[in-house]
Amino acid sequence: MLHIDVMDGLFVPNLSFGMPVVSSVRPNTRLPLDVHLMLANPVKYIEAFAKAGADSITVHVEADSDPAQAIEQIHRLGKRAGLSLKPGTPAQAVCPYLKDLDMVLVMTVEPGFGGQKFMGETMEKLSGLSRRCQELGYAVDFEVDGGIDPSTAPIAVQNGANILVAGSAVFGQPDYAVAIARLRG
Ligand code: ZN
Repeated sequence: MLHIDVMDGLFVPNLSFGMPVVSSVRPNTRLPLDVHLMLANPVKYIEAFAKAGADSITVHVEADSDPAQAIEQIHRLGKRAGLSLKPGTPAQAVCPYLKDLDMVLVMTVEPGFGGQKFMGETMEKLSGLSRRCQELGYAVDFEVDGGIDPSTAPIAVQNGANILVAGSAVFGQPDYAVAIARLRG
């Protein structure tokens, strides 16, 4: 899938792009569009990103919007719902929502900029949450985002990740297919 990082310059210090880029990408690929909203008030924009062609929409538990309301809205629009947490946010923050989620996105760097170093200390949180979902019988995907490369990908997978977001590890290489194959191991 294509992971699309949307940043508002408010929730995160960086600014990327909005709905027009998502709707421009949509007709050019059959890959699912996995939209990661790093927005202060994501509920305001969920419908617009769904209309722009997102297949899954992830919001942050630290944002101003009520996560339950965001998840409900994403599902009402027929999309997969994800909830993300920053490295410093404890696992408990997402626990009340696990039963309603399709995906948990564990940030393995501070959101906002590419090319950062993978934070290994986030792995305990990832493994705890993925174990909890297994025990409770919830079919939740676990995605990791930040600093994923051929050396950190196996660590994330061992700790329960089944979706790996890679930016620099792919786009920093001359041959994207080779880079992706290397990540798959
Ligand atoms: Zn992302």
